[in-house]
Amino acid sequence: MGKTSENTNIENLPILNVGMAGHIDHGKTTLLHALTGKFTDVHSEELKRGITIKLGYADIILKKNKNNGSYSVDDGEPYRYISFVDVPGHEMLMATMLSGAAIIDIALLVVAANEGIKPQTREHLVALQAKKISKIIIIQNKIDLVSKEQALKNYKEIKEFVKGTVAENSPIIPVSAQQRVNLDKIYKILAESVIPERDVNSEALFVIARSFDINKPGTKVNELHGGVLGGSIKRGKLKVGDEIEIKPGLNIIEKNQRIYETVKTKITSLYRGNYSISEAGPGGNLAIETELDMALTKADNLSGCVLGKLNKLPEITHNLIVHAKQFQEVLGVEGHTKVDEFKLNELLMLSVNTSISVGRITQMKNNELNMELNIPIIPFKGDNVGIARNFLGHWRLIGFGEII
Ligand code: GDP
Ligand code: MG
Repeated sequence: MGKTSENTNIENLPILNVGMAGHIDHGKTTLLHALTGKFTDVHSEELKRGITIKLGYADIILKKNKNNGSYSVDDGEPYRYISFVDVPGHEMLMATMLSGAAIIDIALLVVAANEGIKPQTREHLVALQAKKISKIIIIQNKIDLVSKEQALKNYKEIKEFVKGTVAENSPIIPVSAQQRVNLDKIYKILAESVIPERDVNSEALFVIARSFDINKPGTKVNELHGGVLGGSIKRGKLKVGDEIEIKPGLNIIEKNQRIYETVKTKITSLYRGNYSISEAGPGGNLAIETELDMALTKADNLSGCVLGKLNKLPEITHNLIVHAKQFQEVLGVEGHTKVDEFKLNELLMLSVNTSISVGRITQMKNNELNMELNIPIIPFKGDNVGIARNFLGHWRLIGFGEII
């Protein structure tokens, strides 16, 4: 896998987690590419084929130039490790990202100056607010396409839009992602924003977003790598040598019944980007190499599962009680559509960490929903759940819940 390409002790660099948000085509991926030099759109083909959770990650080491105090990826002393996660285009994936698949400390909400506020801009701001992400930087992108007057008009529209929201006092930075204008202003904000305290003392919890077989065809047997898992540590710490378990794990049919078998293995390596590390804590994108046969991890076989230390994860469950809160309006669609009350027996799509499940409401009392799930999940009290309802064949985010 990756090699240590620079002599940087990245284990000790503080990590800031940045989430991209904003309407489709407003320039999120282009901006991410301009900031990091990396493309995050590699999975778009796979996304077209169905609902899978493949968040696009791109990481950088932000450096500080001691002479002039500026920040960049090119020169200076390593200052911070910044892990960006790109928002997937699919509305349900957005819910997933926000419900816990990714840790987000700060969000860049991209608004194209030539188009202004669009349904997904609105949706993402409401969703960020519901997830209590209050640090939002507004990127007024594509300023190369508008006149001064248009830029000013757009600025006023943004100001009006954020009034009364968590983003009311957020900075608005005029940018051209394509022409690389004002990227230094974004780096400076990312360098100077406060990194929240991480929970390193709880039992380790890693949410699996991807799983791979990284061996090239024809690799010699003694050079084969074990199965690799990509995702993020939500809390606790993991280190090379740890004995681990993965749940729900393998999905098998036995005596005509679908059962789930916990996968047990050991961590053989940890990677942050191209850097091999020996121990990792919460935040950022992390790849875990294991002793598992690659056949088990290929083609995202284990994505949606969670990973913890051996015998430390809760049991899987098909039943869940969620304290749910609805949005006032259906998000992500043009116009205003009120969200109807929850109905007994209706089907809702839930996103919990990196997994998605469909559940039927079997009981409800006030805002407490008892749900029966088609795919089991691993319940952690207090975890966020994205709730979607089907409208004309599309799952639309209608609220959030908390596991109780
Ligand atoms: P996303 O859907 O938000 O990720 O948007 P993309 O990054 O894929 O960008 C959509 C289109 O807008 C692409 O054709 C980009 O080249 C273009 N674009 C992005 N940023 C800028 C910009 O600052 N100026 C101009 N003129 N075009 C841009
Ligand atoms: Mg994109």
